[in-house]
Amino acid sequence: MDDWHPDTLAIRAGTHRSQFGEHGEAMYLTSSFVFESAAQAAARFSGTEEGNVYARFSNPTVTAMQERLAALEGAEACVATASGMSAILSLAMGTMQAGDHVVASNGLFGATQQLFTNILGKFGIETSFVPATDLAAYRAAVRPSTRLFFIETPSNPLTEVVDIAGVAAIAHEAGAILAVDNCFCSPALQRPLDLGADVVVHSATKYLDGQGRVLGGAVAGAKVVTDKVFQFLRTAGPTLSPFNAWVILKGLETLRIRMEAQSANALALASWLETQPGVARVFYPGLPSHPQHELAMRQQKTGGAIVSFEVEGGRDAAWRVVDATRVISITANLGDTKTTITHPATTTHGRISPEARAASGISDGLLRIAVGLESVDDLKADLARGLVR
Ligand SMILES: *Cc1c(COP(=O)(O)O)cnc(C)c1O
Repeated sequence: MDDWHPDTLAIRAGTHRSQFGEHGEAMYLTSSFVFESAAQAAARFSGTEEGNVYARFSNPTVTAMQERLAALEGAEACVATASGMSAILSLAMGTMQAGDHVVASNGLFGATQQLFTNILGKFGIETSFVPATDLAAYRAAVRPSTRLFFIETPSNPLTEVVDIAGVAAIAHEAGAILAVDNCFCSPALQRPLDLGADVVVHSATKYLDGQGRVLGGAVAGAKVVTDKVFQFLRTAGPTLSPFNAWVILKGLETLRIRMEAQSANALALASWLETQPGVARVFYPGLPSHPQHELAMRQQKTGGAIVSFEVEGGRDAAWRVVDATRVISITANLGDTKTTITHPATTTHGRISPEARAASGISDGLLRIAVGLESVDDLKADLARGLVR
């Protein structure tokens, strides 16, 4: 398997056939596993014999999904979790303790910001947020207690591109690890571990499933890190269900072709939006006008499938675009074959204080489109209807 192309790994990695020789991967809906003897039970519990014990911490369908995702990310190991947020929580709980410090990029996913400030903060883990694209700011934020660097690239919803190799060097100099939220690109477009990151986290809810069906998450990377995450998951139980693991496992098979097709649609839509009256600015890493376009093209295979844009006229104008859509779904989810539209200031980023929102550049006129697989002409017509002209 070691020399297989990623396209082959996406289809074949993690396959373990049962005695029935099934071609499609089996879904093991069982909470526990039986042993042949008291001695085997003891050996499984103590870990001297490998094998499944209890589905809070191992299930063959979940294992298959973990192995396939690890292969695609080029990771030593992977731990699946119930959601993207529980992946981030498990990483933090597994690798840190009270008194430790995190350096994180500005403009993280809203719930991730909440998790670091409000929840981890309550337990004595402090986070410094720095401008996502300013390497000197990451270095300046380091303390003797810094254990984790956490970045998201491209960021949500402004698609800022963070220099993964640059931040990795600073993190390692500080004796810390670098975690990258690879949700927006997925391993089909970007492999942070190849660029020096120690671990990636995923909301599998997004592109890995790819059709908006289930929640899931994962932490993949160096085994020294994932082992700690596994110890937390084993005890605390934010476990991925085998059904959801199966859906995500099958999603991985079409990941690359979906990401490429959705990226092509996104580039076409972003280029068109740049020419539309009433559109003040378009944020898309695949456009030459994007401030980190060059870095994005070095680090990612495409610009990705998320396009944000600012309309003139603030909230009212933005809501008019949202309300005029007939094809595009008004929903906060992303990563679906169905195109979605969100007004971040009043939804995903609504719980953040207006000051923090302004600091991270989320204006009232900003809209985020997660571009799907529909005809791009239908998407243009859908948006044109609500744009002032
Ligand atoms: C959705 C999302 C998350 C959280 O994932 P859930 O599966 O919803 O818990 C984390 N990071 C990013 C970038 C996301 O888009």
